[in-house]
Amino acid sequence: MKIIELLQKETLSLSFEVFPPKTETSFESVRTATEEIARLRPSFMSVTYGAGGGTSRFTLDIARAIKDLYGVPTLAHLTCVSSTRATVRRKIEEIRAAGLVNVMALRGDIPPELADADRSGWDYRHAVDLIAELKAADAGFCIGAACYPEIHPESADQKEDIRHLKEKVDAGAEFLTTQMFFDNNLLYNFLYKIREAGITVPVIPGIMPITRANQVARAIQLSGSFMPQRFKSLVDRFGSDPAAMKQAGIAYATDQIIDLYANGIRNVHVYSMNTPDVAAKIRGNLSDILGK
Ligand code: FAD
Repeated sequence: MKIIELLQKETLSLSFEVFPPKTETSFESVRTATEEIARLRPSFMSVTYGAGGGTSRFTLDIARAIKDLYGVPTLAHLTCVSSTRATVRRKIEEIRAAGLVNVMALRGDIPPELADADRSGWDYRHAVDLIAELKAADAGFCIGAACYPEIHPESADQKEDIRHLKEKVDAGAEFLTTQMFFDNNLLYNFLYKIREAGITVPVIPGIMPITRANQVARAIQLSGSFMPQRFKSLVDRFGSDPAAMKQAGIAYATDQIIDLYANGIRNVHVYSMNTPDVAAKIRGNLSDILGK
């Protein structure tokens, strides 16, 4: 089922993300985690894609299993940075052949060794180039793209970031999923600004449950996210107690999701990171709200 159709429903829903195994040997554990998350009956599940394509084969294997074995609508991520046109076209053909209809079109992070490279000859420099390629494939894909309530770290300012976001939507992105954020007001402010800029497609907020103190630095590095004092206090108080930190992190994420639902958001995407127990607890905390 196409994600854009799921997003038209009036009901509240949750979706979850998994990432593919890095090696053949860890495939089974990821498959098991995926199955357990799929049993929670999310509205859809997304499967990330290694930048540069390192784990790309596994992305397709996991995505196909979610769709075929567990019957959950699936969103396969695809990155294009530093890939050739031939490689990307082959990947798109594989996605189509696997019967996957939803694709999250991403540039991917620039590998550090290419940070200063001359990009003028690259086949794909931005996600918008991949969106155009997916549209040109004429396979009827439902295409998603990433957006950044706190602006992408490479952008000079929010105006420029939103201008490029609009280009992605104009090129064919039918929905947007946000980078993680820990203060919902940032999301509400962002939504106001993109609507003013004429971006009308559905936006799915992405919520990352921080369940270990050592995830905080990584989350800030990845997303440049602002950490509200309320969240910092929680890490200061519970960070050295793994069980307490996990419980507090799940409660914080749940609280964010409830606030989003209360403010008119219908689908929230949880960066569940192959942790079925965390996904299940968040799902359980919301059972009456989700009405099932
Ligand atoms: P772009 O949309 O290309 O934007 C990157 C930067 O370039 C921004 O600063 C933007 O403003 C600017 N820009 C865009 N278009 C232009 C233009 N035409 N001219 C000039 N500047 C421009 N990474 C992975 O490796 N695998 C994943 O599976 C993955 N999934 C993700 C899912 C979500 C929801 C999010 C938010 C991020 C994900 N990422 C993933 C990380 C993502 O790849 C990085 O954030 C990456 O740095 C940017 O990707 P993008 O698609 O947003 O790029």
